[in-house]
Amino acid sequence: MIIVMSPNATADNLSKVQRKLLDSGLKYHLSQGESRTIVGVIGDKNIIAGLQMNSFDGVEKTVRITEKYKLVSREFHPMDTVIDFGDGVKIGAGHMTVMAGPCAVESMDQLLEAARCVKKEGAQFLRGGAFKPRTSPYDFQGLAAEGLQMLRRAADETGLKIVTEIVNINDVELIEKYADVLQIGARNMQNFQLLKEVGKARKPVLLKRGISATISEWLNAAEYIMAEGNMNVVFCERGIRTYETFTRNTLDLSAVAAIKEISHLPIIVDPSHGTGRWQMVQSMARAAVAADADGLIIEVHPHPEVALSDGDQSLTPKNFAKTMEEVRAFAKLMGREV
Ligand code: PEP
Ligand code: MN
Repeated sequence: MIIVMSPNATADNLSKVQRKLLDSGLKYHLSQGESRTIVGVIGDKNIIAGLQMNSFDGVEKTVRITEKYKLVSREFHPMDTVIDFGDGVKIGAGHMTVMAGPCAVESMDQLLEAARCVKKEGAQFLRGGAFKPRTSPYDFQGLAAEGLQMLRRAADETGLKIVTEIVNINDVELIEKYADVLQIGARNMQNFQLLKEVGKARKPVLLKRGISATISEWLNAAEYIMAEGNMNVVFCERGIRTYETFTRNTLDLSAVAAIKEISHLPIIVDPSHGTGRWQMVQSMARAAVAADADGLIIEVHPHPEVALSDGDQSLTPKNFAKTMEEVRAFAKLMGREV
């Protein structure tokens, strides 16, 4: 249920509503709009069904949400969410955020070379996995804690922020120490225990779409994170599994429009995993900007031919520079800056 307070509701009206919810054993989140406060009620659906909140002073209306997700929905938060890192870097609402770097952190030299390149071309975030969820147990699994330290060093030397994947519920504290954004990978989109843990973290979460996840399942995954109190969630469309085999995945750009219709949260696009082919990354990056995505996450490797993971979809620094040139031009056309 969502409770919409009237524009002239007093602080006392609101606190009576809050007290009633807590006394009923429910939790809530407040969304402060331009003229009114919206209260998103969460908890046992049978208790919520019995609530009579319309009779409270200052309540304009209540909206029963039939879908399972509430906090992610535009009914709860009509304005676009903007995640503000406080130093000019923002994700959402007109900002075009670019995250780029290698699939995996392999060495300090590799990472620094990638970081210098992506910074020069205008990215705000350095990406790179220290914990890699690989399909085969014999493939490179990542440098773990050492990789996180390398990420921090490379990011500090170049003035970038870090987005990196978390795969284990026990690593939240460790990764939060190094990263600016915690990435939940496609394989873990429905790892509900992990979603709850990052929901308690203070850092924003980049939530990649599951390999075969519907939009509704993806929204529910975000709801898991938000229900624990972390409101800073960014969706990432990274392609879904279809019958097509030419591409690694089928990049579903319609998901950008769908998410924007239903949710207030930002959404970025990953044309690297979305296609699996570096030759297609540039055009899909352009298409993502045209679809009004809030940003891009792109794999860039100084030497893709020797990459320990995802070399086939990684751009060389030269190709990344070309891609960014086009992304900037398209963003400008859309009235946005990179
Ligand atoms: C990655 O970002 O390198 C990654 C493993 O992505 P995904 O979870 O989308 O496969
Ligand atoms: Mn990858």
